Amino acid sequence: MLETPKSALLYDRARQVMPGGNTRHTVFRQPYQVYAARGHGCRITDVDGNDRIDAVGNFTALIHGYGSDRIREAARRQIEDGLCFGMPTESEIRLSEMLCERLPTVEQLRYTNSGTEAVMNAIKVARAFTGRPKFAKCEGAYHGTYDPAETSQEARPDTWGEIDSPVSVPTAKGTPQGVLDDVVVIPFNNTAVAEAILRAKGNSLAAVLVDVMPNRAGLVPARPEFLQMLRRVTREIGALLILDEVITFRLGYNGAQGRFGVEPDLTTLGKVIGGGFPIGAIGGRRDVMSVFDPTAGSPAVPHGGTFSANPMSMVAGVAALEDLTPEAFAWLDRLGALFDAGIGDCFRRHGVNGQVTGLGSLRRVHLSSVELSDFRSTFAAGDGPKRVAALARALFDEGVLIAANGLMAFSTAMTEQDIQQIVAAFDRALPRTPA
Ligand SMILES: *Cc1c(COP(=O)(O)O)cnc(C)c1O
Repeated sequence: MLETPKSALLYDRARQVMPGGNTRHTVFRQPYQVYAARGHGCRITDVDGNDRIDAVGNFTALIHGYGSDRIREAARRQIEDGLCFGMPTESEIRLSEMLCERLPTVEQLRYTNSGTEAVMNAIKVARAFTGRPKFAKCEGAYHGTYDPAETSQEARPDTWGEIDSPVSVPTAKGTPQGVLDDVVVIPFNNTAVAEAILRAKGNSLAAVLVDVMPNRAGLVPARPEFLQMLRRVTREIGALLILDEVITFRLGYNGAQGRFGVEPDLTTLGKVIGGGFPIGAIGGRRDVMSVFDPTAGSPAVPHGGTFSANPMSMVAGVAALEDLTPEAFAWLDRLGALFDAGIGDCFRRHGVNGQVTGLGSLRRVHLSSVELSDFRSTFAAGDGPKRVAALARALFDEGVLIAANGLMAFSTAMTEQDIQQIVAAFDRALPRTPA
């Protein structure tokens, strides 16, 4: 058990000046938040001096942990040269060249400061390009907090409706019905049902937005036939296919689109491509991206942003990508496989009904043996999610940080010994998790 009295005091101060003492829902914990002081390698030290292995890397954004000399050096140099300017810098060209080289479907790019804004702009692009008002997304999938994009992210059995016509469920209270009416919700991985819904809405759809391995819907990979259907049907109905690679870009040198063999019209990026600094990007076909082009006067989609393409994010992103070699991806895959073997043994030793989903450097731990395929199937796991949250708390006390929903992200800063230490912490934490 790690002691955290200084965090308790900080949280008392935080509660005075922030609602619930919190400014980021995803990091909230009770009875009080534990505050980070610094990171090094794959470890994080809290304000009381406790070290933990960081097995979530700021919710998947830190693929090199805290240890990349190249990123630190690039950032240090940029601090000396100036943090941001009311002029473009060469660094934005360099990062774009690297991303276009890796993602064959991305011919041109624009930058934002978050994945949320990247998704928002991709939807605006699709509407402007097609002249249509609606888009479709998968039930339960997280795409940031733009209100149409967060539709049905918090759908529940009493609100989600029939599987062949899922209800557009608001996430934030007060979301206008007009917003919800323009979002068509489809079930992830249910090829026949999703196809019928898309064809029925056909000529009103600007785009289909999809993440090939949505974390909040279970971190289950998309079935090949589901993705092939989305590509075929979007072409036939004249809608764009938007692949949200804000997380999944970290699955391989050519992103998830390379790993899954899918060819989207637009791709949204974020997280790892900023090397730890805030970032988002929209990329895709040249003719589609031309809606941003200002050379002939006011573009179809005006897009600015005070800190868009700020050089800190650009140079750190370039450095992060330089370190993301094919060898680095092979290492991350190896760490993932090592974890799978270790955690499988661990579940057996403790007689626990557990399973792990994910690919590459991403994993999600589930405490149930229900077969997971889509968002609704995660609810068939009964109190599994509650027990995962309890397991995450026990792991935190045993010196390992994972997300409360069981999400884990491995980094190039990790060694095989680190994975063994993570598994050893599961070994100690599982018996302390209520059955
Ligand atoms: C994190 C995430 C976003 C939002 O990115 P932010 O930078 O947090 O706004 C969008 N889509 C997916 C798939 C994400 O994981």
